[in-house]
Amino acid sequence: MARFNTQLVHGLPVNDNNTGAVNPPIYNSTTYAFESVNAMPRYDYARSGNPTRDFLERQIAQLEHGTRGFAFASGLAAIHAVLAIFQPGDRIIVGDNIYGGSYSQFNEFFTRWGLKIESVDAQDLTALEAAIKGDQNNGIAPAKAVYFETLTNPLLKVNDAHAIAEIAHAYGALAIVDNTFVTPYLQQPLDLGVDVVIHSATKYLAGHSEVNAGLVVVRRDDLANRIYFNQNRLGGVLAPAECDAVRRGIQTLALRMERQQENTLAIAQYLLAHPLVRTVHYPGLPSASEDLAAKGLKGGGGVLSFEVVPGVDPADVLDNLHLFHLAVSLGAVESLAELPCRMTHFELPREERLKIGISDELIRLSVGIEDAADLIEDLGQAFEVAYEALERSNRVASDGITNVADDVLTVANDSCVR
Ligand SMILES: *Cc1c(COP(=O)(O)O)cnc(C)c1O
Repeated sequence: MARFNTQLVHGLPVNDNNTGAVNPPIYNSTTYAFESVNAMPRYDYARSGNPTRDFLERQIAQLEHGTRGFAFASGLAAIHAVLAIFQPGDRIIVGDNIYGGSYSQFNEFFTRWGLKIESVDAQDLTALEAAIKGDQNNGIAPAKAVYFETLTNPLLKVNDAHAIAEIAHAYGALAIVDNTFVTPYLQQPLDLGVDVVIHSATKYLAGHSEVNAGLVVVRRDDLANRIYFNQNRLGGVLAPAECDAVRRGIQTLALRMERQQENTLAIAQYLLAHPLVRTVHYPGLPSASEDLAAKGLKGGGGVLSFEVVPGVDPADVLDNLHLFHLAVSLGAVESLAELPCRMTHFELPREERLKIGISDELIRLSVGIEDAADLIEDLGQAFEVAYEALERSNRVASDGITNVADDVLTVANDSCVR
C-alpha cells in the first residue's frame, strides 16, 4: 500500500473519467442521467454525491485511517452535521478551550435544541471522567460524547486523544476530536481510539487561505450512515471547485508542515531568548518532546503563542509587523499574527479568558513557509518599535504621569536593542 506522502499526492482514484487527465475533473453538473427508470446510478444529484467531492472524501478517509470521509462547506458546517447525530437530552462534554465558533454553535444552537453541553478542562482526566460519568443517583446519565481539540487554541496545550477516548468508551460515550491544528500528518486520532475526526480544512489541509471547507472522517459504518444522512439532509456540502482546491492543498501538506514546523521552532527559540518576551507556548520545543510523543503527536505544528513582558503593549508589536499579516485564521503558507484578546477570542468574557490563561499580552503566530530569518527579522524590528514606545512612556513616567514597571525596563535595556 502507498505510504503517507504518496497518498497525499495521489489519493484514491474514483475512476470517473476516460480522458487520461492526471488530475480528477471538477464536475459542476448537479444532476446525472439515469440509464433507465429502474437503474440505480452511482450519482443522481450533486448534494447526495459528486465525483469531485468523492475524491476528496476518499482522500481524507485514507489519510486519517478511516473508512468514510465527508466534505462540508466549512469547518462549522462539518461540526453541525456531526453534533446533529445526537438527541435532545443527550449530554456532551466539551473541552473548555475550544474554537470560539464551535463553542458558540454548541451554546447558541444545540443547547436550544436540547443538548446539554458541559465544559471541562480536557487536560484534567479526573475531572473529565467525572463529567462523562454523570451521577446516576441523581438522574444524570453518562455523557453521549466528549468533544475536544488536539491542541488547544491559542495556548497549544496537548490533549491526550488516546486517554480521552478510553475514558469516553468506558462510559459508552463517543470521542470526537477537532484535529485542525495538527492534521493527519502529525496525528491520526482514529488510530488512538477516537471515533470521529473533524477538520476545518480551511486551515492546514487547504493551506492557502483561499477556501472555506470542513471534513469529517469515521471508521464505523453506523456513524458513517448517520453523518452521511445529516450531510445530505442539512445540505452543507462542499462545492466541486472547493473540493478540488482542498485536494490540491492536501498534495503539499507534508512539505508545508515540515517547513512550518522548522520555522516555528526557530521563532520559538528566538522568542525564548528575547528580553521583551515573558513566556512562549509551543509544544514542538525540545523540552516538550516527550510529552508530545507520549500523546501520539509527531510534531508541534505551526502555531505558537507568546506573552510580552508587562509594560510592553502587544499592539505596538503587532501593528509594526511588515511581513506577518495581522489576521485571524492559521495554517496557510503565509505567516499571520494576531492578538487573541481582541481578535480570535474577543467574544470570551475577560474573566473567563484570564481564567483559562489567555492574557491581554498574549500574541498568537501562525507560521508560514517563508524564510525563518525574514520572519525573525520582522519580529525583531517590531520589538524595537515596541521597546521605543515603552521607553517613551517611561520617560513620561519619570515625570510622574504614568507608571510603568522599572524592572521591565532594566531587563529590556540590558539586552533588547542589539
Ligand atoms: C477555523 C476552525 C474551525 C471552524 O472552521 P471554519 O472552516 O472556519 O468553519 C473549527 N475548529 C478549529 C480548531 C478551527 O481553527
